[in-house]
Amino acid sequence: MGIRDRMAVSKAHWRRQQSGAFSQLRQCIVYNARLAGVPVVVGDPRKTSRSCPACGVIDKRNRPDPAHFRCVGSGSAGPAGTIAAGNIASRAAVNRPDAAGGIA
Ligand SMILES: [Zn+2]
Repeated sequence: MGIRDRMAVSKAHWRRQQSGAFSQLRQCIVYNARLAGVPVVVGDPRKTSRSCPACGVIDKRNRPDPAHFRCVGSGSAGPAGTIAAGNIASRAAVNRPDAAGGIA
C-alpha cells in the first residue's frame, strides 16, 4: 500500500502502453507493406543505397548520381538499383520466408 505501490503499478502500465504503441506501429508497417506487395526489410534504405556490396564502405560519394553506384573504396560500380537491391537481399536473406525464389 502507499505511494510506492501506486508508483509500481503506474510504471508497469506506462511500459505496457509504450510497447503496445510500438507493436501497433510495426503491425501497421507490415500490413501496408503486404498490401503493396513489398517484402518487409528492416534497415535504412538511404544507407543501403550508399553501401558497397563488395567491401561494405558506406559513403554518399558512392552515389555520384541517383542512377549510378561507384564505390570510393573498392571501385565496384553498377546500376544503383541493382546495388541497393543486392544489399537489401543479402541483409534480409536470414528472414526470407521463400528462400527458394532466390537470387542467382
Ligand atoms: Zn567497395
